Amino acid sequence: MSASHPLAAQAGIDRLKAGGNAIDAAAAMQFVLNVVEPQSSGIGGGAFLLIHLAVTGENVVIDAREVAPAAANADQFASHSYDENSTNGIAVGVPGTLAGFSEAQQRWGKQTLADVLAPAIRLARNGFAITPYLANSLQNPRAALQPETKALFRDGAGAPLAAGAWLKQPDLAHTFQLIAQQGPRVFYQGEMARALIAAQRRSNIGPAGVGRMTLSDLANYQVALRTPLVGQHRGYTIVTMPPPSSGGVALLQTLNMLERFSLGSPLGSDPKLMGSDPTSTHVTIEALRLAMADRAYWMGDPAATPIPLKKLLADEYLAQRSALINVQSRMSSVTTGVEKEGRHTTHFSVVDGEGNVVSCTSTVEDAWGSGIMVPGYGFMLNNELTDFNLTPQQSAQNPGANDVRPNMRPRSSMTPTLVLRDGQWLYAFGSPGGSTIISTVLETTQNLLDFNLTPEAVIAHARFAVLDANGKTEIEKGASELLVSRLKALGHTLQDAPEPQGSVQLVGENAITHERWGAADSRREGTVLRYSAPTIQ
Ligand code: GLU
Repeated sequence: MSASHPLAAQAGIDRLKAGGNAIDAAAAMQFVLNVVEPQSSGIGGGAFLLIHLAVTGENVVIDAREVAPAAANADQFASHSYDENSTNGIAVGVPGTLAGFSEAQQRWGKQTLADVLAPAIRLARNGFAITPYLANSLQNPRAALQPETKALFRDGAGAPLAAGAWLKQPDLAHTFQLIAQQGPRVFYQGEMARALIAAQRRSNIGPAGVGRMTLSDLANYQVALRTPLVGQHRGYTIVTMPPPSSGGVALLQTLNMLERFSLGSPLGSDPKLMGSDPTSTHVTIEALRLAMADRAYWMGDPAATPIPLKKLLADEYLAQRSALINVQSRMSSVTTGVEKEGRHTTHFSVVDGEGNVVSCTSTVEDAWGSGIMVPGYGFMLNNELTDFNLTPQQSAQNPGANDVRPNMRPRSSMTPTLVLRDGQWLYAFGSPGGSTIISTVLETTQNLLDFNLTPEAVIAHARFAVLDANGKTEIEKGASELLVSRLKALGHTLQDAPEPQGSVQLVGENAITHERWGAADSRREGTVLRYSAPTIQ
């Protein structure tokens, strides 16, 4: 298994050792991530789980995305900036993560919710040493906007806790203990629900910032079971996330548009450069721009606006789109729209001895979510509702697919993905990174399937990101100078990625030997652990 924090990977392994399967391991990892990486995901947020079931060969999605309260409306964000909206209760969506993991476990797990909560309870109660990545994130003012977070994450002098400091979270331990004893009801209908509703009424911008969630929004929360999107690429089957994520559609569109090009010609043997030949990168950027234009127009909650998925994924349509790509120069313009998004989610992947696989991307949206911690319960509330359009787009020419609507899910970019061949599972991966996720997951797929890089090189490879159809392309440090100068010559405007792009956690299986392996991203504290159950004689 592969997770962005060693203690999360360890919790997953311990579940397998105790007879659990990949679904139990994934749940234990999620709850531990809530403790050790509270800025990125947790029960105050939402998640997508893409699961491959060994016995039936089925692939299923649990969509535990946050939803807008019944009282939400399209212009609720219109009078304030992203920062003002996103650090107030108005940005908080009804959380889905706890409902999602508990649903997955009830359906396919082997252990109880109490079993998978145990490691998180222990770590929250006894504490753990703050790692450099968390210490860095604690510098973010959003980690100490409210009295509860100040008390927990700042020292006596008001300075952020440093790497190596011991962090105990007794309130969070108590929260997990209550859930272990009483089940998710205590969160969605009990004492925690009341505390959560009170917390999201906090606002530092007056009435405009007050959250609109009610007890009935929480009691009515439902995970959605969805059928994953499935596409073919060079003989492989790609299984990925449907709407309300925009990532899976963009991934399948882009791979399809690129099939007519012969990609490759790696530059030398440096793993950072392989797969980066300028022409391949140029056409990939162009295909991503076309996909991002469709995303901006069409993607949102499918329950709010019908999404013409068949047409968007049809070979004929994609052939027409691909024909727009000019190998010699950048297309001058493509229709677009862009909204600001956070980049601070987490991805983990796990496979068990039976062959069940979980690929999960989980989030509270921005780092530290809304910055609001539920008093007495120790978990952060998301700001997922700012993934909706902040200014309504609906007009005669535009469906406003991602405008805020009551009870709907905001558009996501999270793209947990599986690759199979002839029905045999081969890879599971995904990444955090807001809208850069789409580029990161595409590049990971290309590195695996088009360029045949080693798992380590797949991840180490310098990444680039197309954020919208007409904007600049971000590029990570470490990209070759030749690549950068050739892309500029083809008309691309490049800018340095503001931070390392994404954090890919990958597990795989060798198609011939069936040997399992994993690779984790050193951009964060990615850790791979493996466990082989003793064979029964
Ligand atoms: N909220 C974003 C989404 O659902 C994810 C944010 C992130 O990756 O940091 O696409």
